[in-house]
Amino acid sequence: MDRPPRIAVLGSINMDLVVRCGRLPRPGETSIAESHVEICGGKGANQAVAAARAGGDVTMIGRVGDDAFADRLRANLISEGIHCEWVQTTSGSASGLATVWVEQSGQNSILVVPGANAKLSVADVRAAKSVIESCDILLLQLEVPLVTVTAAIDVARRAGVRIILDPAPAPIECPTKLLDVDLICPNESEAAAISGIAMDTNDELNRAVRELHRRGASHVAITLGERGTLLSDGETSQFVDAVPAKAVDTTAAGDAFAGAIAVHWAENNRLLDAVQFANAAGAWAVSRKGAQPGMGTRIEIEKTRDSIAKNGE
Ligand code: ADP
Repeated sequence: MDRPPRIAVLGSINMDLVVRCGRLPRPGETSIAESHVEICGGKGANQAVAAARAGGDVTMIGRVGDDAFADRLRANLISEGIHCEWVQTTSGSASGLATVWVEQSGQNSILVVPGANAKLSVADVRAAKSVIESCDILLLQLEVPLVTVTAAIDVARRAGVRIILDPAPAPIECPTKLLDVDLICPNESEAAAISGIAMDTNDELNRAVRELHRRGASHVAITLGERGTLLSDGETSQFVDAVPAKAVDTTAAGDAFAGAIAVHWAENNRLLDAVQFANAAGAWAVSRKGAQPGMGTRIEIEKTRDSIAKNGE
C-alpha cells in the first residue's frame, strides 16, 4: 500500500475526570479528595489516537455535546491528525463523561455517563456512509448504541470493507449481526461474557474461540494481557507471545492493541504480523501512564516489537 491505510473509527468520545483520594467514599459519605485531572478518553477516541500514532489516516465518527468539554475533545483529536468532519455536536446534551475515582491503594470506581455518545444514531451512520465505504478498515467498540454499531457493520459489509470489533464493554445482549465481522478482539472477560464460556483452561479458551466463529466472526484474537494473544482463523489457532514489559498502567492496553492491529492489517494483509505489532503496541501502552498518552508512535511500537528478536540473539 503506497498510502497510509484509511481507518474509520465509529465510537465514543469521553472526558475522563480522574479524582484521586485517600479512600473511596462510602454511600452517603462526603469526603475531601486530593486532586483531579481531566483527560481526553473514550474507547473510540482512544483507538482513533492509537491508530493515528501507529500510522493510520484516521477518520472519527462520533458525537460530542455542546458543553465546555466538547471543543477540547474535538481539538484533542485534531491535534493527533484525526479527521473530525464526522464528529457532530448534539445540542442540549453533555459530552460523554467518565468519572474515575482512584484511592491510594490503587482500587478504583468508575461511573460513565454516555451523554452525546448515546445519541450516535443510525442516521449518523447513513450520513457517514461515504467515509465507511471508502476506508480500508472500520474499527468499532461498544460504548455507543448497539443498533448504531450493527448499522455500521451493514454498510461496511455491503461495501466489502473489512470490519474489526473490539466488543468492549461486553454487551448484555448480543444481536446476531454484531459478530458478523472480519475480526473480533475481546479480552478474556469479554470473550467469556459473549460466548458464555468461562475460560479457566486452554480447552475452554478454544471452545470460546469456536463459539465466536460460530456466531459469525471470521477471525478471533483474544487478548490475554501479559500472556499475549490467541489468534484463530477458524482452521488453526495459535498463541502469539506478548512483548515483555514493565507494567505501570494497564488501562488502555486493549485500545492500543485495537488501533495498532487495524493499521497493520490494512497495510499488509497478514494478520499474524499485525497481531505481533499490536502486542507490541499493548506492551508499550502498559509501560506508560495514562490511556492516550500511552499510545505508541509507529517507531516506538516497531522498536518494542523488534526488541524481542534482539533479546533473543
Ligand atoms: P484489555 O486492556 O482490553 O483488558 P489486555 O489486557 O488483554 O486488554 O491487553 C491487550 C494486549 O496488550 C495483550 O494482548 C498484550 O499483547 C498486551 N499487554 C497487556 N498487558 C501486558 C503486559 N503486562 N505485558 C506485556 N504486554 C501486555
